[in-house]
Amino acid sequence: MKSSELLKVLEETGAILNGHFLLTSGRHSDRYIEKFRVLENPDSLDKVTQAMADEYRNSNVELVFGAAIGGILIAGGVGRHLGVKHIFSERVDGEMVLRRGFEIPEGTRLLIVEDVITTGGSVFELIKLAQKHKADIVGVVNLVERALEKIDFGVSSKALLHLPSVSWDAENCPLCKSNTPMTQRGRTGK
Ligand SMILES: [Zn+2]
Repeated sequence: MKSSELLKVLEETGAILNGHFLLTSGRHSDRYIEKFRVLENPDSLDKVTQAMADEYRNSNVELVFGAAIGGILIAGGVGRHLGVKHIFSERVDGEMVLRRGFEIPEGTRLLIVEDVITTGGSVFELIKLAQKHKADIVGVVNLVERALEKIDFGVSSKALLHLPSVSWDAENCPLCKSNTPMTQRGRTGK
C-alpha cells in the first residue's frame, strides 16, 4: 500500500482530524489521529494490516506481538494475513506483561506491531519483553509514525506512514493567537 493510499484510508474513516487540539502532553496541535476510526472498520483494518503483513511477508515470521488495546486488533489482523499466531501484552501495575497463558517460546521469529507511535515507548517495552523471553525479533512494523525523526529501535523497523506530530506550547500556539476555538473530542487516542 502506498503512503498516499493509506493517508486516504485514514482520512476517509475520519481517523485524521484537523482542528485545534489539546494533547495529553499539554501541548497544542492542529492535527489529531483517532486510530480507532481505522481499527473499528473491517475494511480499513483489513487493508492496513495486510499492508503491514506484506512488509515482513518473506521473513518467516512465526508469531505476531502487539500491545493492548489497539495492538490486539492490529496483531490479530497481521497474524491472520501471515497465517500465524498473534498475541498481545497488557499492563499490570504499569508494567507490560504476558497474561492469559500467552507464551513466547525461546528463539521464536517474532514480529512486533503497533498502530500509532509518537515516542515509541510501548514498542521499546514490547522489545524488552520479547528479549526477556529470548525471542528472535524479526522486526517492528508501525501503522503511523508520528516522531519528528525516525526512531531507532535497535532492530529492523518500518512504518507505513510518517506523519510527524507538530505541536506548540500554549503560549506559542498560532491557533490560540488567532483565537481559534479548541476542537472538542474524546481523549482516547494519541
Ligand atoms: Zn492553541
